[in-house]
Amino acid sequence: MADPYKLFDLKYSPDALEPYIDEQTVKLHHGKHAQAYVDNANKALEALRDSKVNGPLAYEFSKMLDDNAGGILTHQLYFDCLAKPKEKGGKGGEELTSGPFFESVKKHYGGFEGLKEALKKGGMGRFGSGWVFLLKDLSIVTTPNQEFPRGKKPILGIDVWEHSYYLKYQNRRAEYLDNIFHLINWHHVAELYEFSH
Ligand code: MN
Repeated sequence: MADPYKLFDLKYSPDALEPYIDEQTVKLHHGKHAQAYVDNANKALEALRDSKVNGPLAYEFSKMLDDNAGGILTHQLYFDCLAKPKEKGGKGGEELTSGPFFESVKKHYGGFEGLKEALKKGGMGRFGSGWVFLLKDLSIVTTPNQEFPRGKKPILGIDVWEHSYYLKYQNRRAEYLDNIFHLINWHHVAELYEFSH
């Protein structure tokens, strides 16, 4: 059987996020970490198709499938929400000044500064490896490991695993979070916000 899960493509070259996220980090994060979630999801799925895999073993592979499929969803959302910074001619960090998403940000956070502060606070508050998400209702949640917010509608996901910043920022998660706002593609986030589902 062909592998059902495939690694998603990046919408930009791996050096596009420089200087805020270095090329090597993007290459490792996408080509190795995200790829590993794809490979392990396929492995788990294949094991579960074997009728001899049952009982506790089936539970183990189900958990493996759940964790790794979560890793695929979280990472695709993360990379899709980033873009080349605006000072390099991209959309990264370009804040919207009109439209339904802008109005909602204004209503809930007073503006983009307030939203960014709240996201940073969420990311700093997540102990260990995990994620901070902005949901369609403009609330912010964090999850551990590779948990995609179940039954919720995330429109932005920020990876706070060390592998997403360690090469450039070492232990300085706050600095990574400050700088990631130069890369957030708010146009894409607004599209997800407006997309009715
Ligand atoms: Mn990651």
